[in-house]
Amino acid sequence: MNGWQILSVTCIGPRPTPLPTDSGPTLLVFPADGEGEALAGRYAAATGAMVLGRLTQLGAEGDELIATRSSHGGRLTIDLRVTPGLVVATAHDHVFCTGSIQLGEAETLLALEQTPLSDQKMKLEAARIVVGGGRGLDADCFTLLEQIADAVGGAVAASLPAVDLGLAPVSRQVGQSGKFVNPEIYLAVGMSGTPQHFAGVGARARIIALNKDRDAPIFGFAEAGAAVDATAFLPLVAKALADMESASS
Ligand SMILES: Cc1cc2nc3c(=O)[nH]c(=O)nc-3n(C[C@H](O)[C@H](O)[C@H](O)COP(=O)(O)OP(=O)(O)OC[C@H]3O[C@@H](n4cnc5c(N)ncnc54)[C@H](O)[C@@H]3O)c2cc1C
Repeated sequence: MNGWQILSVTCIGPRPTPLPTDSGPTLLVFPADGEGEALAGRYAAATGAMVLGRLTQLGAEGDELIATRSSHGGRLTIDLRVTPGLVVATAHDHVFCTGSIQLGEAETLLALEQTPLSDQKMKLEAARIVVGGGRGLDADCFTLLEQIADAVGGAVAASLPAVDLGLAPVSRQVGQSGKFVNPEIYLAVGMSGTPQHFAGVGARARIIALNKDRDAPIFGFAEAGAAVDATAFLPLVAKALADMESASS
Protein backbone atom coordinates (compact mmCIF):
# COMPACT_ATOMS: atom_id res chain seq x y z
CA MET A 1 0.00 0.00 0.00
CA ASN A 2 2.15 2.85 -1.35
CA GLY A 3 5.02 2.40 1.13
CA TRP A 4 3.31 3.62 4.28
CA GLN A 5 4.91 2.74 7.61
CA ILE A 6 2.44 2.77 10.44
CA LEU A 7 4.13 2.91 13.80
CA SER A 8 2.69 2.75 17.26
CA VAL A 9 4.52 5.03 19.70
CA THR A 10 4.49 3.16 22.96
CA CYS A 11 7.55 4.42 24.77
CA ILE A 12 9.09 7.84 25.02
CA GLY A 13 12.43 8.03 26.78
CA PRO A 14 14.07 11.02 28.47
CA ARG A 15 16.60 11.54 25.66
CA PRO A 16 15.04 10.04 22.57
CA THR A 17 16.38 10.44 19.07
CA PRO A 18 14.36 12.06 16.31
CA LEU A 19 12.64 9.98 13.73
CA PRO A 20 14.43 10.04 10.37
CA THR A 21 12.73 12.50 8.05
CA ASP A 22 13.52 10.51 4.90
CA SER A 23 11.65 7.39 5.89
CA GLY A 24 8.78 7.85 3.44
CA PRO A 25 5.10 8.18 4.28
CA THR A 26 4.83 7.55 8.00
CA LEU A 27 1.87 7.48 10.32
CA LEU A 28 2.77 7.68 14.01
CA VAL A 29 0.01 6.52 16.33
CA PHE A 30 0.28 7.88 19.89
CA PRO A 31 -1.75 6.59 22.83
CA ALA A 32 -5.14 8.30 23.10
CA ASP A 33 -4.60 9.53 26.63
CA GLY A 34 -3.76 12.96 27.98
CA GLU A 35 -0.01 12.52 27.67
CA GLY A 36 -0.11 10.83 24.25
CA GLU A 37 -2.37 13.50 22.82
CA ALA A 38 -0.23 16.30 24.22
CA LEU A 39 2.91 14.72 22.75
CA ALA A 40 1.26 14.08 19.40
CA GLY A 41 0.27 17.74 19.19
CA ARG A 42 3.71 18.98 20.18
CA TYR A 43 5.44 16.59 17.79
CA ALA A 44 3.19 17.75 14.95
CA ALA A 45 3.87 21.40 15.79
CA ALA A 46 7.64 20.76 15.86
CA THR A 47 7.79 18.79 12.61
CA GLY A 48 4.90 20.19 10.56
CA ALA A 49 3.29 16.75 10.50
CA MET A 50 -0.36 16.46 9.53
CA VAL A 51 -2.71 15.72 12.46
CA LEU A 52 -5.57 13.25 12.06
CA GLY A 53 -6.94 13.27 15.61
CA ARG A 54 -8.19 10.22 17.48
CA LEU A 55 -8.73 7.22 15.17
CA THR A 56 -11.18 4.39 15.52
CA GLN A 57 -10.10 2.43 12.45
CA LEU A 58 -7.35 2.22 9.86
CA GLY A 59 -7.79 0.68 6.45
CA ALA A 60 -6.74 0.93 2.80
CA GLU A 61 -8.46 1.49 -0.51
CA GLY A 62 -6.08 0.60 -3.29
CA ASP A 63 -2.97 2.64 -2.57
CA GLU A 64 -4.71 5.03 -0.25
CA LEU A 65 -4.58 4.96 3.52
CA ILE A 66 -8.03 5.51 5.03
CA ALA A 67 -8.17 6.72 8.61
CA THR A 68 -11.53 6.70 10.33
CA ARG A 69 -12.39 8.96 13.24
CA SER A 70 -15.59 9.84 14.98
CA SER A 71 -17.18 13.24 14.97
CA HIS A 72 -20.05 15.09 16.65
CA GLY A 73 -19.72 13.15 19.89
CA GLY A 74 -19.55 9.75 18.21
CA ARG A 75 -22.76 10.32 16.27
CA LEU A 76 -20.93 10.42 12.90
CA THR A 77 -17.79 8.79 11.52
CA ILE A 78 -15.51 10.39 8.98
CA ASP A 79 -13.17 8.53 6.59
CA LEU A 80 -10.03 10.58 5.92
CA ARG A 81 -8.00 9.79 2.78
CA VAL A 82 -4.49 10.47 3.95
CA THR A 83 -2.00 12.27 1.73
CA PRO A 84 1.45 10.61 1.91
CA GLY A 85 3.84 12.41 4.28
CA LEU A 86 4.54 12.57 7.99
CA VAL A 87 1.24 12.15 9.82
CA VAL A 88 0.33 11.81 13.50
CA ALA A 89 -2.77 10.43 15.13
CA THR A 90 -3.84 8.97 18.44
CA ALA A 91 -5.75 5.78 19.12
CA HIS A 92 -6.77 3.50 21.93
CA ASP A 93 -5.17 0.04 22.04
CA HIS A 94 -8.15 -1.41 20.29
CA VAL A 95 -7.86 0.67 17.08
CA PHE A 96 -9.19 -1.66 14.43
CA CYS A 97 -6.93 -2.29 11.42
CA THR A 98 -8.53 -3.72 8.29
CA GLY A 99 -7.07 -5.37 5.17
CA SER A 100 -3.29 -5.26 4.87
CA ILE A 101 -2.77 -2.65 7.58
CA GLN A 102 -0.48 -3.62 10.42
CA LEU A 103 0.59 -1.54 13.35
CA GLY A 104 4.33 -1.81 14.03
CA GLU A 105 6.24 -0.47 17.01
CA ALA A 106 8.24 2.73 16.57
CA GLU A 107 11.91 1.76 16.80
CA THR A 108 13.15 5.29 17.11
CA LEU A 109 11.72 7.56 19.69
CA LEU A 110 10.80 11.17 19.61
CA ALA A 111 13.02 14.12 20.46
CA LEU A 112 10.70 15.94 22.79
CA GLU A 113 11.21 17.08 26.32
CA GLN A 114 8.57 15.71 28.57
CA THR A 115 6.66 17.99 30.88
CA PRO A 116 4.98 16.12 33.71
CA LEU A 117 1.23 16.51 33.73
CA SER A 118 0.83 17.80 37.23
CA ASP A 119 -2.87 18.58 37.40
CA GLN A 120 -6.16 17.60 35.94
CA LYS A 121 -6.16 20.11 33.11
CA MET A 122 -4.62 17.67 30.66
CA LYS A 123 -6.63 14.78 32.00
CA LEU A 124 -10.06 16.12 31.16
CA GLU A 125 -10.23 14.93 27.55
CA ALA A 126 -8.96 11.46 28.47
CA ALA A 127 -10.88 10.97 31.73
CA ARG A 128 -13.13 7.92 32.06
CA ILE A 129 -15.23 9.73 34.65
CA VAL A 130 -16.05 13.42 34.28
CA VAL A 131 -17.78 15.42 36.98
CA GLY A 132 -19.37 18.49 35.40
CA GLY A 133 -20.63 21.54 37.26
CA GLY A 134 -23.08 24.14 35.99
CA ARG A 135 -24.56 27.52 36.79
CA GLY A 136 -26.56 26.04 39.66
CA LEU A 137 -23.40 25.66 41.77
CA ASP A 138 -21.20 27.95 43.83
CA ALA A 139 -17.46 27.95 44.57
CA ASP A 140 -17.86 25.58 47.55
CA CYS A 141 -19.69 23.10 45.33
CA PHE A 142 -16.86 23.25 42.77
CA THR A 143 -14.34 22.49 45.55
CA LEU A 144 -16.46 19.44 46.41
CA LEU A 145 -16.59 18.44 42.73
CA GLU A 146 -12.77 18.45 42.71
CA GLN A 147 -12.71 16.21 45.81
CA ILE A 148 -15.26 13.84 44.28
CA ALA A 149 -13.38 13.71 40.97
CA ASP A 150 -10.09 13.01 42.80
CA ALA A 151 -11.71 10.22 44.81
CA VAL A 152 -13.04 8.44 41.72
CA GLY A 153 -10.01 9.15 39.49
CA GLY A 154 -11.94 11.55 37.29
CA ALA A 155 -11.70 15.14 36.13
CA VAL A 156 -13.84 18.22 36.61
CA ALA A 157 -15.63 19.95 33.73
CA ALA A 158 -17.83 23.05 33.69
CA SER A 159 -20.53 24.65 31.63
CA LEU A 160 -19.98 27.97 29.89
CA PRO A 161 -22.00 29.96 32.47
CA ALA A 162 -20.04 28.34 35.31
CA VAL A 163 -16.81 29.43 33.61
CA ASP A 164 -18.23 32.92 33.05
CA LEU A 165 -19.03 33.09 36.76
CA GLY A 166 -15.39 32.32 37.55
CA LEU A 167 -16.22 28.95 39.13
CA ALA A 168 -13.81 27.07 36.85
CA PRO A 169 -11.06 28.00 34.37
CA VAL A 170 -11.91 28.09 30.68
CA SER A 171 -9.69 25.01 30.19
CA ARG A 172 -12.49 23.01 31.87
CA GLN A 173 -15.30 24.28 29.64
CA VAL A 174 -17.03 21.49 27.76
CA GLY A 175 -19.41 21.97 24.87
CA GLN A 176 -19.97 23.44 21.47
CA SER A 177 -17.47 26.22 22.09
CA GLY A 178 -15.36 24.28 24.59
CA LYS A 179 -13.67 20.91 24.87
CA PHE A 180 -14.89 17.53 23.76
CA VAL A 181 -14.84 14.78 26.36
CA ASN A 182 -15.63 11.14 25.87
CA PRO A 183 -15.91 9.56 29.32
CA GLU A 184 -17.75 6.40 30.30
CA ILE A 185 -19.62 8.29 33.02
CA TYR A 186 -20.55 11.98 33.09
CA LEU A 187 -21.93 13.23 36.38
CA ALA A 188 -23.71 16.52 35.58
CA VAL A 189 -24.42 18.64 38.65
CA GLY A 190 -26.47 21.84 38.54
CA MET A 191 -26.71 21.77 34.75
CA SER A 192 -29.99 22.08 32.88
CA GLY A 193 -28.97 19.83 29.94
CA THR A 194 -28.51 22.17 26.98
CA PRO A 195 -27.48 20.84 23.56
CA GLN A 196 -24.64 23.39 23.49
CA HIS A 197 -23.07 21.73 26.52
CA PHE A 198 -23.78 18.12 25.61
CA ALA A 199 -22.39 18.59 22.08
CA GLY A 200 -19.07 18.31 23.91
CA VAL A 201 -19.86 14.97 25.55
CA GLY A 202 -19.37 11.74 23.61
CA ALA A 203 -22.38 9.58 22.81
CA ARG A 204 -21.02 6.63 24.81
CA ALA A 205 -21.14 8.58 28.09
CA ARG A 206 -23.66 7.39 30.65
CA ILE A 207 -25.09 10.57 32.11
CA ILE A 208 -26.05 10.88 35.76
CA ALA A 209 -27.80 14.13 36.65
CA LEU A 210 -28.17 15.99 39.93
CA ASN A 211 -30.50 18.96 39.66
CA LYS A 212 -32.84 20.56 42.17
CA ASP A 213 -35.52 21.03 39.50
CA ARG A 214 -37.22 17.71 38.80
CA ASP A 215 -38.50 19.15 35.47
CA ALA A 216 -35.01 20.09 34.26
CA PRO A 217 -34.50 18.96 30.62
CA ILE A 218 -31.45 16.89 31.61
CA PHE A 219 -33.71 14.33 33.26
CA GLY A 220 -35.15 13.67 29.77
CA PHE A 221 -31.92 12.01 28.60
CA ALA A 222 -29.87 11.17 31.72
CA GLU A 223 -29.69 7.45 32.53
CA ALA A 224 -29.96 8.12 36.23
CA GLY A 225 -30.29 11.07 38.50
CA ALA A 226 -31.78 12.68 41.55
CA ALA A 227 -33.74 15.85 42.12
CA VAL A 228 -31.63 17.27 44.93
CA ASP A 229 -30.10 20.54 46.05
CA ALA A 230 -26.42 20.14 45.24
CA THR A 231 -25.31 22.40 48.07
CA ALA A 232 -26.79 19.90 50.55
CA PHE A 233 -26.08 16.71 48.58
CA LEU A 234 -22.47 17.16 47.39
CA PRO A 235 -20.99 17.33 50.94
CA LEU A 236 -22.62 13.96 51.66
CA VAL A 237 -21.17 12.40 48.49
CA ALA A 238 -17.70 13.82 49.20
CA LYS A 239 -17.82 12.57 52.80
CA ALA A 240 -19.01 9.10 51.81
CA LEU A 241 -16.14 8.79 49.30
CA ALA A 242 -13.59 10.07 51.85
CA ASP A 243 -14.90 7.55 54.42
CA MET A 244 -14.63 4.73 51.89
CA GLU A 245 -11.06 5.76 51.08
CA SER A 246 -9.96 5.89 54.71
CA ALA A 247 -11.69 2.57 55.46
CA SER A 248 -9.74 0.89 52.66
CA SER A 249 -6.33 2.34 53.60
C1 LIG B 1 -23.01 29.71 20.25
C2 LIG B 1 -23.13 29.19 21.64
C3 LIG B 1 -22.15 28.36 22.12
C4 LIG B 1 -22.26 27.84 23.41
N1 LIG B 1 -21.29 26.99 23.85
C5 LIG B 1 -21.43 26.43 25.08
C6 LIG B 1 -20.46 25.47 25.55
O1 LIG B 1 -19.45 25.20 24.90
N2 LIG B 1 -20.67 24.92 26.76
C7 LIG B 1 -21.75 25.23 27.55
O2 LIG B 1 -21.88 24.68 28.65
N3 LIG B 1 -22.67 26.13 27.11
C8 LIG B 1 -22.52 26.75 25.92
N4 LIG B 1 -23.43 27.67 25.53
C9 LIG B 1 -24.41 28.14 26.52
C10 LIG B 1 -25.67 27.27 26.56
O3 LIG B 1 -26.63 27.79 25.66
C11 LIG B 1 -26.29 27.30 27.97
O4 LIG B 1 -26.50 28.63 28.40
C12 LIG B 1 -25.44 26.60 29.01
O5 LIG B 1 -24.99 25.35 28.54
C13 LIG B 1 -26.25 26.38 30.29
O6 LIG B 1 -25.37 26.00 31.30
P1 LIG B 1 -25.91 25.40 32.66
O7 LIG B 1 -26.64 24.13 32.39
O8 LIG B 1 -24.77 25.38 33.61
O9 LIG B 1 -26.88 26.56 33.19
P2 LIG B 1 -28.47 26.64 33.27
O10 LIG B 1 -29.09 26.30 31.97
O11 LIG B 1 -28.77 27.98 33.87
O12 LIG B 1 -28.85 25.49 34.30
C14 LIG B 1 -28.56 25.58 35.67
C15 LIG B 1 -29.29 24.42 36.33
O13 LIG B 1 -28.86 24.33 37.67
C16 LIG B 1 -29.96 23.90 38.44
N5 LIG B 1 -29.70 24.31 39.82
C17 LIG B 1 -29.73 25.55 40.35
N6 LIG B 1 -29.36 25.51 41.63
C18 LIG B 1 -29.14 24.22 41.93
C19 LIG B 1 -28.74 23.55 43.13
N7 LIG B 1 -28.50 24.20 44.27
N8 LIG B 1 -28.60 22.21 43.09
C20 LIG B 1 -28.85 21.51 41.95
N9 LIG B 1 -29.23 22.10 40.79
C21 LIG B 1 -29.36 23.44 40.79
C22 LIG B 1 -31.16 24.60 37.83
O14 LIG B 1 -32.35 23.90 38.13
C23 LIG B 1 -30.80 24.55 36.35
O15 LIG B 1 -31.39 23.43 35.71
C24 LIG B 1 -23.34 28.20 24.24
C25 LIG B 1 -24.33 29.06 23.74
C26 LIG B 1 -24.23 29.55 22.47
C27 LIG B 1 -25.29 30.48 21.96
